[in-house]
Amino acid sequence: MKELKGAAVSAGIAIGKAYLFVGEETPDIPRFSIKKQQVEDEWQRFLQAAKSVSGVMQAQFQRDQTKSNKEQAAIIKAHIMMLEDVDFHEQLKAQLEKELQNIEWTLWSLSRKMTAKLLAAADAYLRERAVDIADVSRQLLFKLLDVKQQSLAELTEDVIVVSHDLLPSQTFGMNRTHVKALIMDAGSETSHTAIIARSFEIPAVLGLSDCTKLINSGDIIIVDGNSGKVFLHPNEETLEKYKSELVAFEKNFLEGFTQIDLPSETLDGTRFCFRANIELPPETGKALKFGAEGIGLFRSEFLFLSSGQSAEEEKQYIAYKQAIKLANGFPVKIRTCDLGGDKVNPDYFQNTEKNPLLGWRAIRFSLSMKELFKAQLRAILRAAAHGKAEIIFPLISCVEEFDEALLLLEEAKNECKKLGLAIDSKIKTGVMLEVPSAVLSADVLAKKADFFSIGTNDLVQYTLAADRGNEKVNYLTRGIQPAVLKLIKMSIDAAHNAGIPVAMCGEMAGKSRWTALLAGLGLDEFSMSASTIPEVKRVLRSVKLEDCKELARASLLCSRSSEIDTLLDEFHARFNIKTMN
Ligand code: PEP
Ligand code: MG
Repeated sequence: MKELKGAAVSAGIAIGKAYLFVGEETPDIPRFSIKKQQVEDEWQRFLQAAKSVSGVMQAQFQRDQTKSNKEQAAIIKAHIMMLEDVDFHEQLKAQLEKELQNIEWTLWSLSRKMTAKLLAAADAYLRERAVDIADVSRQLLFKLLDVKQQSLAELTEDVIVVSHDLLPSQTFGMNRTHVKALIMDAGSETSHTAIIARSFEIPAVLGLSDCTKLINSGDIIIVDGNSGKVFLHPNEETLEKYKSELVAFEKNFLEGFTQIDLPSETLDGTRFCFRANIELPPETGKALKFGAEGIGLFRSEFLFLSSGQSAEEEKQYIAYKQAIKLANGFPVKIRTCDLGGDKVNPDYFQNTEKNPLLGWRAIRFSLSMKELFKAQLRAILRAAAHGKAEIIFPLISCVEEFDEALLLLEEAKNECKKLGLAIDSKIKTGVMLEVPSAVLSADVLAKKADFFSIGTNDLVQYTLAADRGNEKVNYLTRGIQPAVLKLIKMSIDAAHNAGIPVAMCGEMAGKSRWTALLAGLGLDEFSMSASTIPEVKRVLRSVKLEDCKELARASLLCSRSSEIDTLLDEFHARFNIKTMN
């Protein structure tokens, strides 16, 4: 038996067979010059690849048609036509002859040019074609480079997924019913894969460094998402111990439901608002069952994250409306697309940036893709007419970005009005505070915004310059650094001075270890993975606000993360509070 230790990022226990997932990321595209005489050979390689990909697609088409999977079948049909499109062949051949580069590179650069052009188009139909082109080109490239593809969406038996790293889109697209747990070499508590695992209630341990080197497909492993331990080839004694822990965990989880109808208040009756973070609309119903008073963060980019999928205005409108209706009168805060960074749809983004986390991400992407952005704003405005919705703009770094977003929102409202569409023209708008520069400008932003939402996952990452998905630097992000605490306090004070509420939707809001401190700092709203609400509520209900304020005052005087940790330990010991996460 071998024991590994990583970050416990999603609670629960699983015992089962490992499935080593190598992934299907777009490989590095080789680039080399060819001679004129080689053009025909390269072209024949392309034709062979196209024939083979077309064969696979035809089989998929037949399968989807017999299963009456009409939408999927129509997409595949469009892809087959694209593969055989004469114009596309002519353009590719012309570029091959002109630039004399190998066919992989020629195909890659042509598809990038075509998708960029289509994505910038005002016509929604043309923008959708960009996704198709990128998808078909990717499949051709896999064939040309002889890369074998694995897919987590097509799992047919229960497994524990073992991976080096997963894109949020891969995690999101996996067949949830068969994934019993997830472990990875990379990642930490706030990486998006961890967030999705929590939202799917799949036990997960990340940041294990070398689990993919030690574990093979078929090995029996135990994943303890509560302690961060993973056991490879467990002995009988460990197996028995974990079988009974599994039963105890499930019992404890069910007991948490007894908190659900109780108010989110301190012992002395101060109320706080508890909301949930979601990735897709149907999760709203589950959030309310866990006691959420609405949705504090709808990560709308997940509508765009699956490969081969686009989210046009009408599709988005339906999705937002669904969440709003399920919220039953509670508000749904829809965050505009936070694509980029590690949240990439390989069809839109192809890793050309040197520093994606410092690059074309979130509001920066949206502001440069005005038509896509306005389509999203129109969809939200229209859906908001069916209930209560608010808009959050992600990764605002300066006041100008917020100004421009508000301007485009006005344009979107006018466009809807011209078409006679019902909208909520008084929709509230909030700024996500997740870049230190925004917090330093919070006094100005607070005068323009209706609310703030502190995104601590990114705020911590950008304050400490520590990649939230990199296990080598997670010692900087594990606790709470005094610098981060000061920024949280500044955000809360700026909001309250301007008379607006302030929420926190980063993972910190769902950790019961921080609940008393955040309440003491004056946070108004906690938004978290729905399943953590009962635990956070249990802790909030066992503290007095005055004690929390005292804890906050003392913590703000600390110079080290370890000192804050000690204060928290002392506080919980003094009031006999056990925190579970
Ligand atoms: C955050 O950064 O804290 C946040 C909630 O946004 P995301 O995790 O989606 O980046
Ligand atoms: Mg963020």
